[in-house]
Amino acid sequence: MPQGTLFVMTGASGVGKGTLRARLLERVKLYYSISMTTRAPRPGERHGVDYWFVDRARFEAAVERGELLEYAEYVGNYYGTPRAPVERHLARGEDVLLEIEVEGAKQVKERAPRLGIPAVFIFIVPPSLSELRRRLLLRSGDGDPAKLKEIAARLARAEREIREAGGVGFDYVVTNDVLESATVDLERIVRAERLKTHRRGEALLAALSRDPELEAELDEMERWLVERGRTGN
Ligand code: 5GP
Repeated sequence: MPQGTLFVMTGASGVGKGTLRARLLERVKLYYSISMTTRAPRPGERHGVDYWFVDRARFEAAVERGELLEYAEYVGNYYGTPRAPVERHLARGEDVLLEIEVEGAKQVKERAPRLGIPAVFIFIVPPSLSELRRRLLLRSGDGDPAKLKEIAARLARAEREIREAGGVGFDYVVTNDVLESATVDLERIVRAERLKTHRRGEALLAALSRDPELEAELDEMERWLVERGRTGN
């Protein structure tokens, strides 16, 4: 059985990655990797569903034990991908989806070939920086100066990431302007990747197979065609 593909979806915070991920998971079968983070849960977020919420000591222990496929510090908190479940699902031939920021994606880009993991990198961008700022302000909901400062930090980081995107080696860039078309783009990427030759060994074998019953009928048909050609009726 061929190994699954690791889909790494990345892009600035506020660009709609979370929404796109949820919509994509409704349309194609993918195992979503739940990250570990030291950030406090937001209202409605659940441990083991949205993230594994842990303290810094627990996170640092995971790093030290080599339990993370990648990790990064993002606006004051750690985020990382537990490695074991990702590898387990890939080995079963299942595709895995990561939704992470750019530093983490760079680490996966570097490590995946060494680990023999086929990985596809997708960069989600906003239609413009102004639109991203609008979305971040709307999400924050109030004028709390600390929150505004965090938005400014997230915007500055988004700008830098977009500028650097060319050098990271993303396979695809998807603009999240109209949600539905961005979702369709992602779905097409996943479906197209599943048709790559290294995933299609069984299809190639099937294409080379012969059905004895059908072959016998075709032999008969061939004889009949030859006969008709000889007698002219
Ligand atoms: P948030 O705090 O808004 O949930 O996430 C902040 C950023 O961290 C987002 O860009 C999100 O994609 C990213 N992130 C979430 N999980 C991981 C992870 O496991 N590794 C890395 N590198 N980034 C992550």
